[in-house]
Amino acid sequence: MNTVSKLNFNCAKCSTPHNIEIDSTSFEHIGTDPDRAMGAEYQYEFVHEFQCECGNDIKIIIGLWEYPIGAYNYHEILSLEGVKDFKKDNNFMNVLIESCQRRL
Ligand SMILES: [Zn+2]
Repeated sequence: MNTVSKLNFNCAKCSTPHNIEIDSTSFEHIGTDPDRAMGAEYQYEFVHEFQCECGNDIKIIIGLWEYPIGAYNYHEILSLEGVKDFKKDNNFMNVLIESCQRRL
């Protein structure tokens, strides 16, 4: 199963609408805490940076934590730079859950 989720947002400067699609391959493994009470914890990050036609720099970063192995623990929107009206669709949580199940 490979769920795709669409993120919709507007440029904070010129209000141009943008959207990006993410799936479980969008999250990169960036860290491991090997020794927690219930085993390892894996940390992932999705980073998307680009420049709007108006010159505004847009940076979206989403952090994701898998713990225990195979289980979604939590996520955090770490950056919404240059963005306004950020919206996630209904598949967003499923993409996060699938991302945490990839190494099983
Ligand atoms: Zn713009």
